[in-house]
Amino acid sequence: MHLEIVTIGDELLLGLTIDTNAAWLARELAADGVSIVRRASVGDDAEMIADAVRDALDRSGAVITTGGLGPTADDMTKPSIAALFGREMIFDEPRWEALKQLWRDRGRPGELPDSNRQQVMIPAGAHVLTNRHGTAPAIFLEDDGGRWVAMLPGVPREMRGIFHEELQPLIRRRLGGPRAVVRTRTVRTTGVAESQLPTLLGDAARGIDGMSLAYLPGQEGVDLRLTVRGADPESSDARLAAGCAVLAERVGKFVYADMATTDLAEVVLGACRARALRLAVAESCTGGLLGARVTAIPGSSDVMAGGVIAYDNAVKQAQLGVAAATLAAHGAVSEAVAREMAAGVRARLGTAIGVGITGVAGPGGGTPEKPVGLV
Ligand code: AMP
Ligand code: MG
Repeated sequence: MHLEIVTIGDELLLGLTIDTNAAWLARELAADGVSIVRRASVGDDAEMIADAVRDALDRSGAVITTGGLGPTADDMTKPSIAALFGREMIFDEPRWEALKQLWRDRGRPGELPDSNRQQVMIPAGAHVLTNRHGTAPAIFLEDDGGRWVAMLPGVPREMRGIFHEELQPLIRRRLGGPRAVVRTRTVRTTGVAESQLPTLLGDAARGIDGMSLAYLPGQEGVDLRLTVRGADPESSDARLAAGCAVLAERVGKFVYADMATTDLAEVVLGACRARALRLAVAESCTGGLLGARVTAIPGSSDVMAGGVIAYDNAVKQAQLGVAAATLAAHGAVSEAVAREMAAGVRARLGTAIGVGITGVAGPGGGTPEKPVGLV
């Protein structure tokens, strides 16, 4: 099945809202073996919406839209697409009554505003996709030739709920037969440069057993993502597991997780917890970022004792016991000072582990020997 996504909203074109809906839908659909052949975004303009959907239908015959189903004047997805299909908009009395009841149940003041009436205007012959997460019903509209448009709300939580409960089952039924899927698995590494990985991976560097391998560098390390396309779900999962085993064998020393969502700070906390070790940080150039990163993880307080932001050399000396002689001999940005900071915070906070960070954060202050970025 070929499918296109059209996301709707002025805020998307202005860059005020990041189009997470399109990315999320693409991932979900690809995992079921649906090919997303094009994505587009348009503003809240009936003609633009109709143009984009008409083009997409002509090319691919299947379109999902998000956005523009709300109760305000800028919400025109439904009438615009209904006109494209030559369908009238029909007021749905039972849904209107239900919406009014929901308003009262939620203890909202007064009566449901009349502007909500447009949310229960349904294109003739449409299949309504029930929205259990909000007030805007989603719409599935199909023409005589089997070409279809599914209109989902813009609010990501509602969009995701309706997709899983209503639209995904419908699409899966249409796909029928044995499903050819796209599946991925991600192995997360840290402490190794992207350019070192191919050497370590050897003949797996360009993919394993027909699976593609992507290198995804980020601030905390490089993720290795294996992707298998066009096989059934069971054999895909088995191949991915075998591929991950190969990765673990070659670069396992640098691997901290085999799930894309696993957080590095959480892994560090878990490792400390398992060994009953507590942690303290002494930060210069990061100004508290490491402490913030670790304490952002719920339940970190059993491991994380605290820290000192020692920006000024005087603070490094007074609060952490860094020796004036070390500062004079090596400069504040040096391994020797980082070590004394770590040892100092460890001793003063009574923890098993101390971490010291000092560096040249920039933009100014770099020298040829100690360039901006040296940490
Ligand atoms: P709407 O259904 O057009 O009234 O959209 C309601 C809200 O959903 C907007 O204010 C946005 O914050 C959010 N939203 C709409 N479209 C998207 C999108 N493509 N990706 C992420 N959020 C969106
Ligand atoms: Mg909108």
